[in-house]
Amino acid sequence: MDSVNDVGFRPGIDISARLKELYEQIDYIYRKAAVQSAFSCYGCDGAKCCTVDLIVHTFAEMLYMRRGLGALNRPTRLEIKKRSKQVVELKRLDSLGEYRNAICAANFEGKCKIYDYRPMICRLAGIPHFIDKPNSTRVFGPGCDRFELNACDNSSFEKIDRTPFYRKLAELEIETINTQGRRTQSLTIAEILAG
Ligand code: SF4
Repeated sequence: MDSVNDVGFRPGIDISARLKELYEQIDYIYRKAAVQSAFSCYGCDGAKCCTVDLIVHTFAEMLYMRRGLGALNRPTRLEIKKRSKQVVELKRLDSLGEYRNAICAANFEGKCKIYDYRPMICRLAGIPHFIDKPNSTRVFGPGCDRFELNACDNSSFEKIDRTPFYRKLAELEIETINTQGRRTQSLTIAEILAG
């Protein structure tokens, strides 16, 4: 397995600014959809969204998350690494009950410690969406339980179109692979933060 532990965006070819810009666009669209549907994460501990099963597919996002981890104070950083290693170990032992019940190592009492650096999958959770695939099919995804219970009637709600975000991220990923000279396999958040 390739490691993202000892690498970062290289000076001069840093795509992090453009990734940040993409995240800002995502956050803007998400906020708009949340207002439109009267949806709020306020008071939610994130236990349903911040699961240990979330997988990040792009090297670009992995590097950015590790940058966020590196920006934390030492005790918090070490605590997240320790928790992440425990989660990875549970997965390795195939301790499925414990693994499935664990939550993301970066979730501290409902707050994400790497919030500004969290990946796209975390930013888009909760609100119904669709993706237009290259084969011209449209795939829909539901909102979280809280959305389905409390937010507006889904039939009138305008779902978030994730397609442009995925396209942009794919472009950034190709650039990242080219500049890093290698790619990495998909990893869970714990696998990314454990190093
Ligand atoms: S990175 Fe943050 S938002 Fe994403 S699952 Fe972990 S705690 Fe939740």
